[in-house]
Amino acid sequence: MSKHTLSKTLISISIIALSFSAFIFISQTTKFLPSTSHKIKILIVPGHEPNAGGADEFKKIKERDLNLQLSEILKKDLSANPSLEVILARDKNGWNKDLENYVETSSTTIMNWVADMKDKMFAKVDAGEMKLINPGMKHNEATSSAVLYLYGTNKWIAENNIDLVLHVHFNSNPKINGKPIFSGYCMYVPEKQYSNSTSSKIFANYLNEEISKIEKPSTMLQEKNIIIPDQELIATGNYDTLKIPSVAIEYAYIYEPMMLSSTTRNIFIEKSASSTATAVENYISNELEK
Ligand SMILES: [Zn+2]
Repeated sequence: MSKHTLSKTLISISIIALSFSAFIFISQTTKFLPSTSHKIKILIVPGHEPNAGGADEFKKIKERDLNLQLSEILKKDLSANPSLEVILARDKNGWNKDLENYVETSSTTIMNWVADMKDKMFAKVDAGEMKLINPGMKHNEATSSAVLYLYGTNKWIAENNIDLVLHVHFNSNPKINGKPIFSGYCMYVPEKQYSNSTSSKIFANYLNEEISKIEKPSTMLQEKNIIIPDQELIATGNYDTLKIPSVAIEYAYIYEPMMLSSTTRNIFIEKSASSTATAVENYISNELEK
């Protein structure tokens, strides 16, 4: 990934480089109601921390602000569906208060849980039941605070019966000789040995179907497969710390031409949110509401 901070392991902690339509909405909403006894809970995580962290910045445009802008529009789009409960991990005021309170009061519990999950995974590796995979590319490093919040989010997800999680990012680095050269979107999913790999891949396929209509695939070699399995990203549940589908999207490189003026950037972000909402609706309708 290029350059973000979705993150990675405790020690080496690297992270990711990662980076609608009203009619359909109404018809799907109607379809959900009879069969749903509880709301589907989706957590949208605008990548990076509210005021800090490994967020990319280009010409004063901060990636973490773009992530938030897109996430808030996505929440608004999805909230039109009464069968969905849409939760943001952070908003303009900072962290989601429930999540923040949980992380701030349970940091030791969270990190002990991570250590335990890591031990269990490496026991499987030692027993020959699981293989370690070297990622195709280096992720950016996450700060200790970002790591705590990412793992804390994974544990909070399980304790709050979240059904689906989406991490929103824009890509940036690498640049060659300081010059931006890449373009396009990609997404990260859990590596195939993790328990949420199949469901996440299915979710990613729905996202790919819609995002491919508004943006070209990444031109970076390591991202050429568009949907990239990763064993080390916290966001997608490294050490098997997530049981639900999780996808981390890099919608575009922040230095692409359409991102440089506020007018075209806002249009792209609106389209990205709308396409994502359609994909989420389709995924839930076809896969979770069967
Ligand atoms: Zn990012």
